[in-house]
Amino acid sequence: EALLIGVDLHKSFGPTPALAGASVSVRAGEVVALMGPSGSGKSTLLHCLAGILRPDQGRVHYRDVELTGLSDTARSALRRREFGFVFQFGQLVPELTCLENVALPLRLERVPRREAERRATEWLDRLEVTDVARKRPGEISGGQGQRVAVARALVTNPKVVFADEPTGALDSLNGERVMRLLAESAREAGAAVLLVTHEPRVAAYSDREVVVRDGRARSLEQVA
Ligand code: ADP
Ligand code: ADP
Repeated sequence: EALLIGVDLHKSFGPTPALAGASVSVRAGEVVALMGPSGSGKSTLLHCLAGILRPDQGRVHYRDVELTGLSDTARSALRRREFGFVFQFGQLVPELTCLENVALPLRLERVPRREAERRATEWLDRLEVTDVARKRPGEISGGQGQRVAVARALVTNPKVVFADEPTGALDSLNGERVMRLLAESAREAGAAVLLVTHEPRVAAYSDREVVVRDGRARSLEQVA
């Protein structure tokens, strides 16, 4: 049963459409990889499904809610409550320690500091970066930073994690490690993952690959 569905999505930034009728669905707990050439519309599709970007045409459904029918404020609130995000460059707050970075989404939801830091510590352990808790993002490696970013994305127990090239800035060994930990911990937490990647070795950790080409999306089975 689908948790998140995008139907016939269109989006243009200029004369050439970035999305030209893309449809995709994600089931609860499923890890889906969006693959395809650079400029084919993968990030635009991810942003539309995440409710960050409003499509020109088409609809996005999350459970029984039509995301595309919500106000910006209601969409932002739903995003904070139900979704987690990981980007190519961790986008951690440089002034905060890694522990404080992971605890931040909980603090914004008014979880008391002690409880927030306890849960953040559990996620740092889970992502095998216990030792960076007291360090600031500038003092750790790229691979450690992405694992901290994954911990921050999962700490709120999201139903869907959106990951846009989460391993794009890492070498292949660290990239695979981050992806393995992301896929494993999302599965344990019961979160679905929608991932953009152009690396087959990263996509190999997904349950299903969807190929995006010229702004349209097709499951790999349909392509074959
Ligand atoms: P991919 O993720 O597959 O590389 P994108 O979704 O980033 O593809 O981009 C699809 C097309 O839309 C590209 O031609 C890109 O230049 C264009 N595009 C994406 N975002 C913007 C934007 N914010 N402003 C203008 N053009 C954009
Ligand atoms: P609100 O205005 O209610 O906060 P929006 O959906 O307008 O909600 O935007 C929420 C977040 O999404 C903001 O952090 C904003 O920077 C980001 N955002 C909005 N539009 C884009 C876009 N085209 N590309 C990338 N990020 C965007």
